[in-house]
Amino acid sequence: MTSFALGNYRCRYLDVGSFEMSADALFGDVPADALAEALERHELDPERLVFQVRALLVDTGANRVLIDPAGTWEEPYRLEPVLEQAGIDPDSVDTVIISHGHADHFWGGVRADGRPLFTNARYWMQRSEWQHWLPGDNPEPDHAENFRKALLPLEDRFTLLDGEREIVPGIRSRPTPGHSPGHMAVQIGAEAIYTGDVLLSPINVEQPDWAARFDVWPEQVVDSRRKLLEELGQSGSLVLTCHFPGSGAGRVVAAGDGWEWQPELG
Ligand SMILES: [Zn+2]
Repeated sequence: MTSFALGNYRCRYLDVGSFEMSADALFGDVPADALAEALERHELDPERLVFQVRALLVDTGANRVLIDPAGTWEEPYRLEPVLEQAGIDPDSVDTVIISHGHADHFWGGVRADGRPLFTNARYWMQRSEWQHWLPGDNPEPDHAENFRKALLPLEDRFTLLDGEREIVPGIRSRPTPGHSPGHMAVQIGAEAIYTGDVLLSPINVEQPDWAARFDVWPEQVVDSRRKLLEELGQSGSLVLTCHFPGSGAGRVVAAGDGWEWQPELG
């Protein structure tokens, strides 16, 4: 569980577990030899790509903000014991931000024993994301069912966002649609950005046009990703991912015509 300072803010990654998926799921329709070359360079097994699952706690001094109360749908990947181990009282969290409505970003974290885990928190999500998961005929029915089970009962605790805005002082929503329609990244102070799932793997930094099979709007993913990489390559901001291997943190640096991932804090 990596802890680090960002100016006056104190941050902590909360690792709740990992799962595996195949390169075929993560990199949809891409040229086979280019994919094989990228996997080899990153020393990745095409059948067993490890996907970390993390939440990020940011203490700004004024607010205690939890971004993506992560956890998978399988025991034992629940957030509550991880918080306990880290000595973090869930009642001390006043702000919960959910980047998007896929279950690995909230399922194991928002409830414990059938009750809400963060009793004093206000929850934040994009309005377009919230509305996407409501209808019954969703293109991802399993995720929609999880949303209705876990988040809909918390509706009165949510503030729905329309685009970019300050959530609490120093923490800002940064819409990056595509992976889901209201997906957002989160700006943390001036120096860092939490990317959610606009970046799923370090290979996405080098090959921004490679969408995942489960990116429901791949063209939008690529557009959002390219805009963000352009910005990050220039700003040199610390980039905080959810699913990358290692610490999860790093920077996007210019390389040739594109970018590459430089891991940090690992
Ligand atoms: Zn995810």
